Amino acid sequence: MHYTGTIWRPPYESNSLLLEVTAGCTHHKCKFCTLYEDLPFLFKMSPMETIQQDLEEVKQQLQLWHNSTITRTFLTGANPFVLKASKLIKIAKLIKQHIATNKTIGCFARITDIALKTDEELLQLRLVGYDGITIGIETGYDEALTFMNKGYVSKDIVTQCKRLEKANISYHFFYLAGIAGEGKGEKNAKATAQICNQLSPKTIIANMLTIYNNSELYAEIQKGIWKEQTEIEKYNELKTLVENIDIDVYFAALGASNAIPIQSVLPKEKQKVLTLLEQIIKNVSEKELKEYRKNLKHL
Ligand code: SF4
Repeated sequence: MHYTGTIWRPPYESNSLLLEVTAGCTHHKCKFCTLYEDLPFLFKMSPMETIQQDLEEVKQQLQLWHNSTITRTFLTGANPFVLKASKLIKIAKLIKQHIATNKTIGCFARITDIALKTDEELLQLRLVGYDGITIGIETGYDEALTFMNKGYVSKDIVTQCKRLEKANISYHFFYLAGIAGEGKGEKNAKATAQICNQLSPKTIIANMLTIYNNSELYAEIQKGIWKEQTEIEKYNELKTLVENIDIDVYFAALGASNAIPIQSVLPKEKQKVLTLLEQIIKNVSEKELKEYRKNLKHL
């Protein structure tokens, strides 16, 4: 199989076939992001021949392991959904040709990638299996989205996700606690809850901002332009987020950036998760949490 650099995938894609169709990110401008810094280029699409070779290899392996079945494929790279609909459809057909049991295809997508597709193209993508795509919205707070160069604002999130809903393509959100900076965690959480409440994400995965020295954000901090939240403010931010979310959604904070794993089904388990967050805020020290983050060599 061809894999380039570090491969990132959401936790719920752990049973999916990971198929490289792109590497890197077309945007590559978010100030906090160092995820694809190990690549010698910004973005690359795999040639169709390489994708086909990988699928041939998977097919052969499946023939050897009679009891194995693949029902879902996750396309790797920061935003494979940026590819033209015709290309994505071609990839979906190739997957089906080689793995007849595959039912759905997921990938990371940027809000701007959805905007590039027509409604008709989104419907076609759903028909060939694209579903459960993961969008790192990070926040619904415009000030933070703009400062961090995410390349869209909150109204774009609502517009584009409603288009996905219309095409029956489900989606998951990644949220980034701490992205708004010192003293703004509450505003960040409330603005994001307000966006989420207008939509139907299947999942909200919370991550916590970890700043690495090679990020643009680190340079901004050195210049005194931006200040980081305390770890406790990040937990207060998560608490405000959970308090203000009114939709049915699976909420989790499980990745390496979270010192303490949290997962819950909202609104059913809202009180349970709020109690856990209150306990963390009351009983875990800033020092311990800072130490955890300092020792995070990579996300
Ligand atoms: S956060 Fe996502 S969109 Fe932004 S630069 Fe990193 S990979 Fe690209």
